[in-house]
Amino acid sequence: MLQGLIKKEDLKKLIASVKKEGTFYGLIRGSEGLSLSELGPDDEVTLDYSNFKMPPKRQFFPFSEVICTYEDESMTDLPLSEEKAVIFGVRPCDALSLLYLDKIFIDEKFTDPYYRSRRDNSLIISLACREPLKTCFCTSVGASPAGKKGADILAFEVKDSLLFEACSEKGTRFMENYPAIFKKPGKADIKARDEEVSAAEKRVQTIDLSGITEKLQGCFDSPLWEEISQRCLGCGVCTYTCPTCHCFGLYDEKVELKGRRIRVQDSCMFPSFTLEASGHNPRTSNEERMRQRIMHKFRYTVENFEDIFCVGCGRCISNCPVNMDIRETLAEVIK
Ligand code: SF4
Ligand code: SF4
Repeated sequence: MLQGLIKKEDLKKLIASVKKEGTFYGLIRGSEGLSLSELGPDDEVTLDYSNFKMPPKRQFFPFSEVICTYEDESMTDLPLSEEKAVIFGVRPCDALSLLYLDKIFIDEKFTDPYYRSRRDNSLIISLACREPLKTCFCTSVGASPAGKKGADILAFEVKDSLLFEACSEKGTRFMENYPAIFKKPGKADIKARDEEVSAAEKRVQTIDLSGITEKLQGCFDSPLWEEISQRCLGCGVCTYTCPTCHCFGLYDEKVELKGRRIRVQDSCMFPSFTLEASGHNPRTSNEERMRQRIMHKFRYTVENFEDIFCVGCGRCISNCPVNMDIRETLAEVIK
C-alpha cells in the first residue's frame, strides 16, 4: 500500500497541480454553511469539521439535470461529463455510500451513462473522522471512521500533516504522479494515525441491529408504523440529505413539439411520489411512507443487493425538523 505524507500547509501545492488537469473539490465554508465545492485559487480548504450537510451523491446524481432536448421528431441526448475531478474530504461513511449508489446506477442490466461518466472521471480522497457526531452510528452498519471502502485514497490528519494511503489502483496512480509532493511517513506518523483511529472508533455510538432484516420481514402490517410516523411532517429532508437515497422522477418541460426532459431527485416521503396517472395512490398515509423508507433501506436492499443501504452518517437525524431518530425507529422494530 502506497503511503505519502504532506504538510497541511502544502495541500495548496497538490491542489494547484491537480487543477492543471481537472477540478479539485473540497469543503468550503460559505453563506450556506459547509459544502463540497470547486476550489478557486484563493479558497482555503477546510479540515475542521465532523461532516457536511449535503452528501457527495450530489456530485454524481445532481438534484436536477437536463438529460435530453427534443424538437419535432428529433431528440438530442446531452453530452456526458468529461470533467476530471478530485473530490477531497468526504467522510468514510459517505465514500461507502457511493458503492451502494453504484449498485443502482451501474448495473449489468442497466447503466446510467450520466452517473457513470462522473464516477469514472472522479477520484475520491476520503478524510478519516476524528470527531464523530452524537448522531453517527457508522460502526453499526458496516462502516467506520477510517473505513476504506469506496475511497481511492484515505487521508488521516496527523498533527500538522496529512497521511495519504492509496486504497485503489486509481489512488496509487494518482499518488505516483506527484512524487515531489508526498514524503515517506515515519513510524511516529503511523503510530499517531493508529491512536487517532482507535480514539475515533471508541467515540462512535453503537446500536444493535442484529436481525433487523428478518424482523422487518415480519412486521409489514404492524401498528408500529402508525405510532412511529405520527410526528413525521413528510418534508423529505431525511431522503434528500441521505447519501444512499436515489429515487428520481423524469419531467418534460415543453411548448408544443419542442422541449427538454429533466431528471429530478424525488422522495418516497412525499404523497405524490406514488400518485398514479389515474389518480389512484397506493401509499396515501404517512405510516405507509415511513414503512417504505425503513423497509427499503434495511430489508429490500438486503434482499436485492445484499447490503443495508444506510451508512450511519446520521444526517436524517440531525436534519429532521421534528427530531425523528432512525435509531429509535430501528430499536422499536427490533424490540
Ligand atoms: S425529515 Fe423527519 S419530518 Fe421530514 S420526512 Fe423525514 S422523518 Fe418525516
Ligand atoms: S438512513 Fe440516515 S443515517 Fe442512514 S445513511 Fe441515510 S441519512 Fe445517513
